[in-house]
Amino acid sequence: MLQLNQDIKYLQGVGPQRADLLKRELDIKTVGDLLTYYPYKYIDRSHFYRICDINGSMPHVQLLGEILSFESQGVGRNMRLVAHFSDGTGVVDLVWFRGAKYISSTYDQHVPYVVFGKPQFFKGRIQVAHPEIETSTKLPQAPHQSSQEEGKMGLPLFRREPVENLSGSGMSFRPAYNTTDAMKKRGLTSTLIARLTETLLRMLDQPLSETLPAYLIEHYHFISRDEALRNIHYPQSADLLRKAQARLKFEELFFVQLNILRYTQDRQRKYRGIPFPHVGAQFNDFYFNHLPFPLTDAQKRVIREIRADMGSGRQMNRLLQGDVGSGKTLVALMCALIAVDNGCQTCIMAPTEILAEQHVATLQHMLQGMDVHVALLTGTVKGKRREQVHRQLLSGDIHILVGTHAVIEEDVQFARLGLVVIDEQHRFGVAQRAKLWTKNPIAPHVLVMTATPIPRTLAMTLYGDLDVSVIDQLPPGRKPIQTIHQFDAHRQSLYRHLHQQIALGRQVYIVYPLVKESEKTDLKNVEDGFRNISQEFSECRVSKVHGQMRPADKEAEMQRFVKGETQILVATTVIEVGVNVPNATVMVIENAERFGLSQLHQLRGRVGRGGEQSYCILVTKYQLSQDTRRRIQIMVDTNDGFEIAEQDLKLRGPGDLEGTQQSGMAFDLKIANLAKDGILLQMARDAAAQVLQSDPDCNQPVHHMVWTQLSQLRRSNINWGAIS
Ligand code: ADP
Ligand code: MG
Repeated sequence: MLQLNQDIKYLQGVGPQRADLLKRELDIKTVGDLLTYYPYKYIDRSHFYRICDINGSMPHVQLLGEILSFESQGVGRNMRLVAHFSDGTGVVDLVWFRGAKYISSTYDQHVPYVVFGKPQFFKGRIQVAHPEIETSTKLPQAPHQSSQEEGKMGLPLFRREPVENLSGSGMSFRPAYNTTDAMKKRGLTSTLIARLTETLLRMLDQPLSETLPAYLIEHYHFISRDEALRNIHYPQSADLLRKAQARLKFEELFFVQLNILRYTQDRQRKYRGIPFPHVGAQFNDFYFNHLPFPLTDAQKRVIREIRADMGSGRQMNRLLQGDVGSGKTLVALMCALIAVDNGCQTCIMAPTEILAEQHVATLQHMLQGMDVHVALLTGTVKGKRREQVHRQLLSGDIHILVGTHAVIEEDVQFARLGLVVIDEQHRFGVAQRAKLWTKNPIAPHVLVMTATPIPRTLAMTLYGDLDVSVIDQLPPGRKPIQTIHQFDAHRQSLYRHLHQQIALGRQVYIVYPLVKESEKTDLKNVEDGFRNISQEFSECRVSKVHGQMRPADKEAEMQRFVKGETQILVATTVIEVGVNVPNATVMVIENAERFGLSQLHQLRGRVGRGGEQSYCILVTKYQLSQDTRRRIQIMVDTNDGFEIAEQDLKLRGPGDLEGTQQSGMAFDLKIANLAKDGILLQMARDAAAQVLQSDPDCNQPVHHMVWTQLSQLRRSNINWGAIS
């Protein structure tokens, strides 16, 4: 029996060169890796198209016909071989840009061939570039054949049949595998991989071992792993394909979840957590005497959840999600006061200096008249001031430290760090988070805050080990931001609107995708924008902020806007995160078609922070792709960040979502899709929790295969170690 950990090199048909390529390009090192290199789609080879039915929007088609003639076209590097191919209902051009000699000597004219490829219209003709060709002796039996459908050449033409009717007819689906350019160049095509998986499955003459306990398989009515792996490559029927997919997706998600839950369990066993039993003088003083406004119900609930967690004696690891403007800062402050009441310090880490400074100002303002000391530590705090901060941290005189990533540096030491708050989490990597843990002998409680709502399925995987609290309510009195889509050409009406708002004493953001003019695109840029806007709005003062400015200049310009000295801020997306200017009521986003949904939502969140009606104006060119149109429409239709995040996940897939790259948890799921398999994910999460609950020490015989598989996956998947 073939061993799954056997080097792929020794599989019949591979050899050292292809093995190198498979390793380098697809990370396939063993035959087991090949077994779990799943097809990305299946091609129904049971039916044929008529050439006269082909239209421009078809994916791959299978044709049956003959080559009428060969022709060489073009010269030199543009030389290509064209075979005129017909099935009696029309002609397509089969085109090769390489290997002309081989093709013309291998294939004959007037012999029936099955041709397979993607049709494209080119100068009024249908082309299929680099098609696959087989002689027609390999044809599956025609399900139906009628004399009316016989082509002019007497070749049978097959009617299309629904897939279901073909079950039992053997391999009517052919697997298609992703390959890279480097592989294609060296002949390692999808077809070749299909041949390898076919060989492999044939050689695996014993049933493949099971990885899920029998009771789970029974409970969910899954097919066995053996059956699933065979059918995922060569489905015997559409039904079995679906069952194989369900089983393998579940299995994949199950082990990801089991890994996360076990990690969490380990962590909880290892780290005691600092108990915060008291809610004492400072918290109560603030709550009864200093609270600037009543808390929203959502804020209250979240504070209760956090309080319970920190009082439990285990270490808190909590993700606080709340849309922009939902009042997370206040929640963080009140949690910090609980820490103070329990003799502990709090460290709040923000992604930018501007934000850190704003937090300090906000906190100091709210804490006026209380004996709670807030200090700032950023890269620009230097010399004597910095030494003082270091000293006061060690002596415990500073209760709340707010800073940028400067706070994670070695020499920043606390007397007793009890709570770490990380604002706008998606800007920080896992490693940075982890560094803060080590600043106290007992790991501090961790509260991670994000305004980039994460769809539930993603959160379960990305932050699967964190408990989640959600502020799903905005403070009262906010008028929902009106979002308007405006075409570039209607700039005058846009400007009229801005003049009006400014005349009312409000401020305006205008965001551009670029800093400077670029030869490569006709996108709008800050520099030109600044000139035009200064001219058009001669009654105003205009600030300019972008990432290429010196931090100090950027800071100064930003401050002018924050203080209301300037009425318009032209900027790049550097203002995306956290900045709070309640008097700003208009957010104009130029070339809005160039921004992703979450980014648009973040930018929009800069306005609507005061009591006035605010506007977000998405300016685009006239011609938009369908995807872009949908994105803009979603923005116009909803202000709900969670809804937007869900849509974003659907439109872009998890790999592109902000935060996933830095998260340390790469999304190299092989078959499951977090955007589509939410129900399976929930099932997998429940099952994993059940397994761990009934077998916390991971030693019950009934789960033996589970723990074996988990440790194998941990060994082979480097990213799994990075979850935190
Ligand atoms: P975010 O969740 O985006 O960080 P902030 O904490 O910056 O939001 O809060 C946004 C604004 O809402 C701030 O001006 C803050 O003072 C105000 N705010 C917070 N909580 C409340 C509340 N319960 N009632 C009214 N205003 C509030
Ligand atoms: Mg905030």
